Amino acid sequence: MSFPLPTYQGQTPDPHAATKDAVTVWKTGKIPLVEIFYSLQGEGGRVGQATVFVRLAGCSLACSFCDTDFRVKRALSIEEIITEVASFGCQWVCLTGGEPTLFDLQPLCDALHAAGFFLQVETNGMHPRPEWRLDHVTVSPKETEGGHIKPWYFSHATEFKYVVDDDADILRAKNSLFPGIIYLQPNALNPAATPLCIAAVQAHPQRFRLSLQTHKLLEIP
Ligand code: SF4
Repeated sequence: MSFPLPTYQGQTPDPHAATKDAVTVWKTGKIPLVEIFYSLQGEGGRVGQATVFVRLAGCSLACSFCDTDFRVKRALSIEEIITEVASFGCQWVCLTGGEPTLFDLQPLCDALHAAGFFLQVETNGMHPRPEWRLDHVTVSPKETEGGHIKPWYFSHATEFKYVVDDDADILRAKNSLFPGIIYLQPNALNPAATPLCIAAVQAHPQRFRLSLQTHKLLEIP
């Protein structure tokens, strides 16, 4: 079944329009995607590992620092996704967005696991999906989270990753209820953010680690 993918005007994603289009695709039985691509994980604890990224369309937030186009570009079945992912010959798959947990991807996760893949998810942590079987859960609480991280993530996440602009973001990370390793990732658009992160990591070496967007430094996807 083919879906008439929307034609967008302009460059700035409108989260409401993108999510509405993604939901429309979802209701046809297809999975709304932006793209599937093969690269290295550039951030967090899996940095440097070859990974196939499956980017879901739609997002529940509108962060000021957002650098991601989360508009619907493709509509694929689970089988079509697995065929494309398998073509790269890599074991790790990262479900990212936008916000991938807007949709119940359990059938996709089950199918990917059955095909032998390991799964990472990158989420803002605001939508509980505890039934998914995942191998690496990265929660990146956002500026507009309003304290609405779902409790499940505090006990099940592999890592938390905070994008840092200023001292308030460092304080948010310090006050996180997540007991494990927290990555501080400077907003790439703000040169003042990196020294703040370095100072915080040095002050709290057991709690914080620095995460750089190494894929951007390397100019790879
Ligand atoms: S949650 Fe991520 S994709 Fe969504 S607006 Fe914020 S930075 Fe962009």
